[in-house]
Amino acid sequence: MHKLDVLIVGAGPAGIGMALELNKVADLKYGIVERDRIGESFRRWPAQTRLISPSFYSSPFGLADLNAVDAASSPAIVSSAEHLSGQQYADYLTFVADVNELPIVIGCKVLEVEPVQEGGFNIATERGDLYAQFLIWACGEYQFPDLNPFPGGELCQHYAHIEDWQILDNGPYVVIGGYESGLDSAINLVKLGHQVRLLVRSQTWDLPGVYDPSQALSPYTRERLREVESNDRLEIIFNVNVVKVTLKEDEYFRIHAADGQHWDVMEPPILGTGFLKGGGARQIKDLWEWDKHGHIVLSEFDESANTAGLFLVGPQVRHEERIYCFIYKFRQRFARVANEIAKRMQLEIEWQEGSQDGIWGPFGNSECCEGCEC
Ligand SMILES: Cc1cc2nc3c(=O)[nH]c(=O)nc-3n(C[C@H](O)[C@H](O)[C@H](O)COP(=O)(O)OP(=O)(O)OC[C@H]3O[C@@H](n4cnc5c(N)ncnc54)[C@H](O)[C@@H]3O)c2cc1C
Repeated sequence: MHKLDVLIVGAGPAGIGMALELNKVADLKYGIVERDRIGESFRRWPAQTRLISPSFYSSPFGLADLNAVDAASSPAIVSSAEHLSGQQYADYLTFVADVNELPIVIGCKVLEVEPVQEGGFNIATERGDLYAQFLIWACGEYQFPDLNPFPGGELCQHYAHIEDWQILDNGPYVVIGGYESGLDSAINLVKLGHQVRLLVRSQTWDLPGVYDPSQALSPYTRERLREVESNDRLEIIFNVNVVKVTLKEDEYFRIHAADGQHWDVMEPPILGTGFLKGGGARQIKDLWEWDKHGHIVLSEFDESANTAGLFLVGPQVRHEERIYCFIYKFRQRFARVANEIAKRMQLEIEWQEGSQDGIWGPFGNSECCEGCEC
């Protein structure tokens, strides 16, 4: 059995960024396991999808590229793009992993985790067993879509299962969901010449006083929406709470709303309704404490509230009103986790100049949201 000080599970931006932080801890023996390929979630995005947060090379002026997981690198430079495709971003992650010679084993799924009474974890993987004193869970959410947000969800096509909008039939289509994935679906379909009816609960692009892209539609998607909103092929219906989808006469689909309205469509409705709460962390759901909203309860060091030595990194990290679901947000937590592990192992950590969190820019510290609206 291999023995490690730390095992990171998942090689997306959270796992890769976390590994770079652990590289600064002298004499730490750590590894990363990834069930598929580096950046797998991004490789599965629909071909037309782009990062909504822009990339721009700004490091020499003290501000890291918003999508960088390594402060010195810039996805904008690696891919020559401001809004990267999933493939381009996965290639950027692979480039960072190669340059830094990160110890990643790909094609190695973690199957089971068992905390050991004396401390640490026994971890069963597809390629054998491991022991690690600390475990960092970085399994994201994209590969864990909510396929049944209401009865009949299984009759629909989830956004996360679309490889390319170009290869769909002629439509018309009904898209359910008014946030990023619903809008991305509708905009891409309209641009490709399809008729689209978009059913939304609320207008996420017009929420008074809400600017955080974790809650309101990003400027990038608002801009794209403006390009198509007057197009005859797009119809947006507001205040729709879908409660059920049924198959009628084995031929067409009926979408039922709570207020009794319904809409019929020949193609399976498209779900832009989101991902399972907790995402990939549900694979080890008993090792976390869950609050009444279905969010994971974490210590100030992002450690599980009921399993010592288990840390969470990535988009499920939340602290009170702060939601760290974007790369530029959750990367600010890596140093905190690395620092805590180094302290417990009594190992030296080689901080760069400035404060330990400062590498992500003047606001790049854990208190960034203190007293502000986001
Ligand atoms: C359409 C869309 C657009 C987005 N745009 C942006 C944006 O512009 N900017 C931004 O900051 N964020 C954006 N996000 C959010 C961003 O993609 C996620 O926050 C990010 O992918 C999370 O990174 P992660 O490393 O935690 O998860 P992932 O990228 O999902 O990586 C998790 C990895 O864990 C692996 N894994 C899972 N289970 C196991 C297991 N049991 N064993 C081994 N490996 C496992 C998976 O294969 C995967 O590679 C967007 C999301 C979507 C869906």
